[in-house]
Amino acid sequence: MANVKQKLWENNGTISATDGIRASSLNFEKGQRTRHQQKGNGFGSKTKTEPRRQSLNDSLEGDVRAFLIDEETLHTYDDLTKVNPVTPTTVLKCLQARYRVKVFYTHAGCTLVALNPFQPIPHLYSLDVMKEYHFAPQPQEFKPHIFIVAEEAYRNVQGQVEPTDQSLVVSGESGAGKTWTSRCLMKYYATVAASSSSPKCQDTIERIEKRVLDSNPIMEAFGNACTLRNNNSSRFGKYIQLQLNRSQLLVGASMMKGATEEQRQEWRMPRDQLFAWLPNTDKTLEEDCFKETTDAMKNLGITKEKQGQIFQCTADLLQISEEQLLACLRLRTLRAGKQSVLLKPCSMAEVFDWLVTFINRSICADKSSWCNFIGILDVYGFECFTLNNLEQLCINYANEKLQQHFVAHYLKAQQEEYVSEGLKWSFIKYQDNQSCLDLIEGNPTSVFSLLNEECRLNRASDARQFRTRLEKELSNNACMSWDKFSKQPHFTVSHYAGRVSYQIEGMMEKNKDPVPPELIHMLQASHDPLLQGLFAGQNTEESSGRGHSKNSLDSLMKILHSTTPHYTRCIKPNPECRPLTFKKEEVIVQLEACGIVETINISAAGFPIRIPYLSFLQRYGMITNSWICKQSINENGPEPDKNILGPAVADVLNVVLRSRPLDPSKPSETDSCSSLVHCGKTKVFLTHSMLELLEGCRDRVR
Ligand code: ADP
Ligand code: MG
Repeated sequence: MANVKQKLWENNGTISATDGIRASSLNFEKGQRTRHQQKGNGFGSKTKTEPRRQSLNDSLEGDVRAFLIDEETLHTYDDLTKVNPVTPTTVLKCLQARYRVKVFYTHAGCTLVALNPFQPIPHLYSLDVMKEYHFAPQPQEFKPHIFIVAEEAYRNVQGQVEPTDQSLVVSGESGAGKTWTSRCLMKYYATVAASSSSPKCQDTIERIEKRVLDSNPIMEAFGNACTLRNNNSSRFGKYIQLQLNRSQLLVGASMMKGATEEQRQEWRMPRDQLFAWLPNTDKTLEEDCFKETTDAMKNLGITKEKQGQIFQCTADLLQISEEQLLACLRLRTLRAGKQSVLLKPCSMAEVFDWLVTFINRSICADKSSWCNFIGILDVYGFECFTLNNLEQLCINYANEKLQQHFVAHYLKAQQEEYVSEGLKWSFIKYQDNQSCLDLIEGNPTSVFSLLNEECRLNRASDARQFRTRLEKELSNNACMSWDKFSKQPHFTVSHYAGRVSYQIEGMMEKNKDPVPPELIHMLQASHDPLLQGLFAGQNTEESSGRGHSKNSLDSLMKILHSTTPHYTRCIKPNPECRPLTFKKEEVIVQLEACGIVETINISAAGFPIRIPYLSFLQRYGMITNSWICKQSINENGPEPDKNILGPAVADVLNVVLRSRPLDPSKPSETDSCSSLVHCGKTKVFLTHSMLELLEGCRDRVR
């Protein structure tokens, strides 16, 4: 199928009438929760080679392994769950082969992997392509694409039975393409929501669409920085809610920003560092960006006067000339210095907060006019550097939370379907990351609680002393360890995505709020109307910056828990941002960091392939070619009925199971059958192995 799909796509993604597989004729259910369940998992990676007649597992694995090293066809795997065995290396090989032929999207079960091409690929995102995915009966049968994720969420949010809010979580390391992907999703919805609207609504849609897209350059101008890793790197986690009315039209949007710990540290002024806005060498680019920003501000209703105030405020407080600031709005470079410049980063952060509030006011629809939303979360991925500190701990903690949500949600959706289909057991085992979360944030004792306690004591920080404390209080948690040979005081946390050692030196300082109360009082007394507005009502006794981040993470998690999540993992194929360059060492680290192998295993756990009875018979009925089978297909309308179709399905399954070689090492035939296939009320539940068997039999009788 992978081959066929690929070919189909190359012919502009339309399914032709000559398609032997007729993906579109498969009657998969609409409005289900995840792509994986919904798509009934396209029919396999079956190769033309006959399975060797050994034990079942041997023959299948041998087969696929042979296939795997066949570099010629490796790129046709559109879902990493089909790779066997699933290891970081095999997954890597597959992605590399795809990248080589300029295929940038690959499913990993219920997640989408997006490789950054670092090169514009216009035809991939054109209006026509959007339409193809939007109007396709089964978009998931097309080549993997971010538009599948977009469309699935769009269909789910209008779910016939019960509309559910959706979240699109886009993660990855800096420069991997998260913001790009989020922007792509926003464009998709702006287009799709507008295309289905009546002329009367068109005006509103266009306005909102423009405003949503306009919020990007503004947020980026004030929230992004040129870093070593990405010259337009977001320093804030961004959650945008696209609000849809009853007819699924976009009526508004709102944004929740969570400044990263890194950003807070940078803006709130780590002791001896000064961030300045420095001129960029690429003058034209900066001028363009500035124009884009001010235009966008204008569209959002930020008056010229207010714009002036913002720029003046940032320029004054940064103590650099306005021209300099204007010339280099997007660039920031780290500088060491000794000036007392506490005001500067603080004001930037506050200006950013103000902008978010303003943008929200400008684009957020009145609650009465929208009923459901699709949220897009652009979030920094798991990080593990040579030296890691509080910033990484916070980022990894946020990712740990997201991972927990992802696994719990996915498994819950699976189990719910088993129950609704009358299948009674629960068997999916997975790595629960609760103990890691307990270690970091748990009550009463955790890294965070001890860190806060240490900071409250307000004594000179002593890294060694803190390390001893951590060891004493937390060494019973299996996720905590220490490298006995390290000279630096540190602790190591076993995250779901790997082990990370955090240095303790500097951690306490970073955790303290460096904005002194006098400063806030002073700003509150400012004659500048913008500053007055920014700091009005700010409690100088408020908790630290990290406390604020933690709260915004908590409220984000609450929102996420009330939605159906869809995950996209962006991968940066090389550190130099060079077009179409794939560095294996770079990618494998990221694959491990996003827990790809675990994701694939979870996606493939249990009986990941679910095919409605009628679709099953339409495809595999030919294996028995029996009277009962033909009868079932002919007599049934579009509604499958287990009473009529059930015996025919059982017939096919029996023939296929009987045809397979028996494995003497397996205890009994019944046992191994039930580990391959189960019949629910309306669907047949299969493992990948069973699917391969069915496909093998089908190939032989054709
Ligand atoms: P992140 O937000 O993950 O730090 P960005 O979204 O800013 O990364 O992406 C970094 C750069 O990579 C972008 O400026 C863009 O040039 C390029 N890029 C990312 N995704 C794509 C894509 N799908 N097609 C073309 N270029 C891309
Ligand atoms: Mg970004």
